[in-house]
Amino acid sequence: MEKTSEKKTVLVTGASSGIGQGIAIGFGQLGARVIVNYHSDKEGAQYTLNKITASGGEGFIHQADVSSEDEVQAMYAKAVDAYGPLDVLINNAGIQKDSSFSNMSLDEWNAVIKTNLTGQFLCAREAIRLFEQKPDVGDNDKSKGNIIFISSVHDVIPWAGHVNYASSKGGISMLMKSLALEVAQKKIRVNCISPGAIATDINDDVWKDKEKMAELLKLIPYKRIGQPEDIAKAAIWLASDESDYVTGTTIYVDGGMTLYPGFLENG
Ligand code: NAP
Repeated sequence: MEKTSEKKTVLVTGASSGIGQGIAIGFGQLGARVIVNYHSDKEGAQYTLNKITASGGEGFIHQADVSSEDEVQAMYAKAVDAYGPLDVLINNAGIQKDSSFSNMSLDEWNAVIKTNLTGQFLCAREAIRLFEQKPDVGDNDKSKGNIIFISSVHDVIPWAGHVNYASSKGGISMLMKSLALEVAQKKIRVNCISPGAIATDINDDVWKDKEKMAELLKLIPYKRIGQPEDIAKAAIWLASDESDYVTGTTIYVDGGMTLYPGFLENG
């Protein structure tokens, strides 16, 4: 998204830390109006907003559980009240609750599916409803609305001990593609970004531990862990008119993690 006088309105779910925070700040630096959603970490959300306003953007923080239909609808109502119709949804909020399969409780399964998959469905549905209310645009015009799902390399890489998480991300992939097909003729674009290993709170037990980090790097041909800014840059491009012909696809931002690194010197 180029810095233009016509500011885009962007809703970022889970923007109080990690990838969502990096994306929200990235849009803020371009002068966007950013709705900074958070669930429990108000301080983190306020930090995000401070960074946005300090760099020329604007916005507000809003607490909502993305898996609650009422809370999601109230969040959109507030966004529309403040800024009118939305331009971009960054559907990012997500959690992990890891367990071996036989020990996985129904609560652990439901919590992850509810936040990662149902939450992304609810937020996407409200965004689509808003985009559909915008005036029609011509076939050769740019898109009138843009949804970016933050999925994971685990939408294609199986992950033992994380079946709930991998299932949610595999589900997001088909949610994204089916939705993209359904709304393309309305000039609405829908895509996924699937990050590899990005240093955030979700995996700090790994990147803060030297030995675990060395093991992780064996899975990353590019030999560094990713940063939230790596994802923000892809999101900004996908939300911009520069990518106007891109819909229904997944961009893997993963340092080559999906390249079967085990085959580097084997096979
Ligand atoms: P993170 O630092 O733990 O951030 C997760 C964010 O999601 C937080 O802002 C959290 O809000 C929010 N959240 C959790 N449950 C929520 C709910 N019910 N309603 C609203 N917000 C909720 O993790 P992250 O690494 O940035 O993860 C962001 C996304 O990237 C997730 O979808 C994750 O699956 C995906 N991803 C991450 C990696 C990675 O290596 N880090 C790789 C692939 C994909 P509060 O803190 O305010 O509760």
